[in-house]
Amino acid sequence: MIDDLLDIIHEKTPLSKEVREKVRAAYERDPSNLMESVIETKLFLENEVLEAVAQVYSIEFIPVLSMDHVRDDWTGDIPRSFLKKYCMAPLAKDGEEPLIAVNDPSDLSGVDDIAALLNLSGYSLVLAPRNQILTAINALYDRSGESAQQLVEDMEGGGFTIIDDFEETADLLDDTSDAPVIRLVNHMISQGVKAGASDIHIEPFQDVLKVRYRIDGILYEMLTPPKGVQASLISRIKVMAKMNIAEKRVPQDGRAQVRIGDQEIDIRISTVPTAYGERLVMRLLNKSGYFLEFSEFGISDKNYQLIHKIIRQHNGIVLVTGPTGSGKTTSLYAALTEINSPDKNIITIEDPVEYNLKGIGQIQVNAKTGVTFAKGLRSIVRQDPDIILIGEIRDLETAEIAIQSALTGHLVFSTLHTNDSAGAVTRLVDLGVEPYLISSSVNAVIAQRLVRLLCKECREEYEIEPSHIQTLNGVGQEYIGRRAFKPRGCSKCFNTGYSGREAIFEIMVMDDNLKSLVLQTSDSNQIKHAALKAGMVTLRQDGMSKVLKGLTSIGEVLRVTQE
Ligand SMILES: [Zn+2]
Repeated sequence: MIDDLLDIIHEKTPLSKEVREKVRAAYERDPSNLMESVIETKLFLENEVLEAVAQVYSIEFIPVLSMDHVRDDWTGDIPRSFLKKYCMAPLAKDGEEPLIAVNDPSDLSGVDDIAALLNLSGYSLVLAPRNQILTAINALYDRSGESAQQLVEDMEGGGFTIIDDFEETADLLDDTSDAPVIRLVNHMISQGVKAGASDIHIEPFQDVLKVRYRIDGILYEMLTPPKGVQASLISRIKVMAKMNIAEKRVPQDGRAQVRIGDQEIDIRISTVPTAYGERLVMRLLNKSGYFLEFSEFGISDKNYQLIHKIIRQHNGIVLVTGPTGSGKTTSLYAALTEINSPDKNIITIEDPVEYNLKGIGQIQVNAKTGVTFAKGLRSIVRQDPDIILIGEIRDLETAEIAIQSALTGHLVFSTLHTNDSAGAVTRLVDLGVEPYLISSSVNAVIAQRLVRLLCKECREEYEIEPSHIQTLNGVGQEYIGRRAFKPRGCSKCFNTGYSGREAIFEIMVMDDNLKSLVLQTSDSNQIKHAALKAGMVTLRQDGMSKVLKGLTSIGEVLRVTQE
């Protein structure tokens, strides 16, 4: 066998007697590992040997495997360590016979096992370079989200086997260290970015550690590393964030920047002590992947026309309301981007600055240096801006400066923590703002939420029955008999039934009637009632229009609009 191989290589590149002897000696020491023993002599390139091996065994050699043929539904049936041990990867093109890529046909003991485990009736063997097969194995498990678990297992066993095949994180951080904990942290971050997570939570419990990713606003448990990993994992992240690793009893904040391929990721890191150790949250701010146009929100034509008008006024306040994570900042950024032009002076004060907007001055609130919203605002006003964005109105002082600015010829954007648009008036009055100031300064209040979009691969169609809309509080008789979809869950959507998000809006324009009503009452029900009479579309109505388009589900609209 080894002589056949050497003869084939010899035809292309003449081999000396000495080289032949060396290779034969290496092979005879370990005849069950043909490839390894030949490669280890370092006399040939791997592809050179594989081409020859392909001839000896009459197997096709594929120098580059297509990762499109990776099937993630196979991972549940085969342990990853098994594939790596034998260096084989099962692949499948749609509708074609599966391929099993092997690196060494002299040892095919694992191939039958794969075929049996996957229930393959037929398959063909192909030869591929070792790193191609390892990359395919990684892709296989990456897609199913299990590789981080494997990293932990490898870490626990003290094994360093994970190292050579993790090229995908090579440009992440200063990844020169071989320490498994660094690999694990890097992997967690790059997986988080890939999955579109906004936060990664590391939560210690008595016996385990839980790693959860927030994707599309929902927390998913991704990994439960053993308790033993906790100290080194937390320490590593604290080092990245330049925190004091010895201090474990007070909350700390820090930040780090990483690059993954061409994406720049800003990470805000915070720790909080708990009874079982430090709880840590990494907030991922992807500077490359922000949507900055309303059209990318899935906004309705009617709502867009309203917003278009509202954000082009020359003075007054536009408020965006909604709970944390409802996309308020993104909407404000989209508004600024839309109206930004060289002749306009736009200044923002934010906590934190989430995204760098071109041509717009952004100031970060910083408690340590005494830059609060109110103080920052005072200095902003002196810089003669046309448009001011205040990250959030939290107190009377900030509200008063915002209103003052609005009344003196500035257009002011800000956010408030209220459920619906009418509630914004109540909230401002509760803060201590005089109703006549609200009535004279507020142009519009935009309430918004993000709804998850149904996974198009697995959503299920049905007909809306009266019982389905019972929870819509009386509204929605007109939906009965219409077609809608509900989530199911498949491998494409991590079994969540959803993939991606869009915003829904409730825009309350302060017309003369509403302005005079605000002078009489701050009761949000009365204000809402008047706004509805003037034609306001509620969050639920806007959400239901997405339901009828098959984009989201009734359950999802109810979830995000519950009071
Ligand atoms: Zn799906």
